[in-house]
Amino acid sequence: MEKLAEIYSGKAKKLFQTTQENILLVEYLNQATALNGLRKDTVEGKAMLNNQISAHIYQYLNQKGHKTHFVEEVSPTQQLVQALTIIPIEVVLRNITAGSFSKRFGIEEGIPLDKPIIEFYYKSDALDDPFINEDHVAFLAIASLKEIATIKEMTLAINESLKDYFKQLDIILVDFKLEFGKDQDGNIVLADEISPDTCRLWDKNSHEHLDKDVYRRDLGDLVSVYQEVLNRIQAL
Ligand code: ADP
Ligand code: UDP
Repeated sequence: MEKLAEIYSGKAKKLFQTTQENILLVEYLNQATALNGLRKDTVEGKAMLNNQISAHIYQYLNQKGHKTHFVEEVSPTQQLVQALTIIPIEVVLRNITAGSFSKRFGIEEGIPLDKPIIEFYYKSDALDDPFINEDHVAFLAIASLKEIATIKEMTLAINESLKDYFKQLDIILVDFKLEFGKDQDGNIVLADEISPDTCRLWDKNSHEHLDKDVYRRDLGDLVSVYQEVLNRIQAL
């Protein structure tokens, strides 16, 4: 398997074609961003941590029978994934109030929700990822109603698996963002990364932040917090 042309350079990762058809190489970068890329810092060691944490979580989700893009980790900062046509929606699921939800509704952080809340954001850096509903998704022809129903069903099922996984690590899964893509047969498949960059993770006992809020809110050292998450995963 050889790395061929770069096809995308994003805020946290680069994508490359490979000698294997429909398989992409994802290279994680030592880059942290917030505020839609307005704030950007080089963080030594972040690529390795996110790649490895995401790979462990995806291996678990594959074992649990979820349909995901993950193939294998090939180096400390690289993994192979199935090439998909990404559906430009960021799907956020919330188990506990926090972040933009708390801000939007003027509700304090940390209140458990009776049932998970799913939100959609239109994945567009130029528009700052606006909040959208299912009618907007239909209007923008981003996905069909049936596909949206499948995405919601998959997101709820993935939430159940992830909650169980993090529980074993003494971590509370507050909320997270997922992306989905379509394979050549039109099947919906889970894509992108799952890491402390894309999930809110709180220590079960101290409620200490073990996620990107440490960077967003200047609460401490991102690398040592992400390393703590990886240590707990490796100790499983
Ligand atoms: P951003 O695009 O927001 O700057 P990243 O730096 O994480 O974010 O870039 C990774 C890109 O790769 C994202 O746009 C994501 O949608 C895309 N992607 C993730 N998984 C796949 C996949 N399996 N096939 C194609 N594209 C993918
Ligand atoms: N999230 C993400 N990428 C984004 C926006 C949000 O991975 O571009 C994740 C974020 O880490 C959190 C969840 O989605 O776990 C909900 O984020 P929220 O809407 O509260 O926004 P925030 O206040 O974190 O910007």
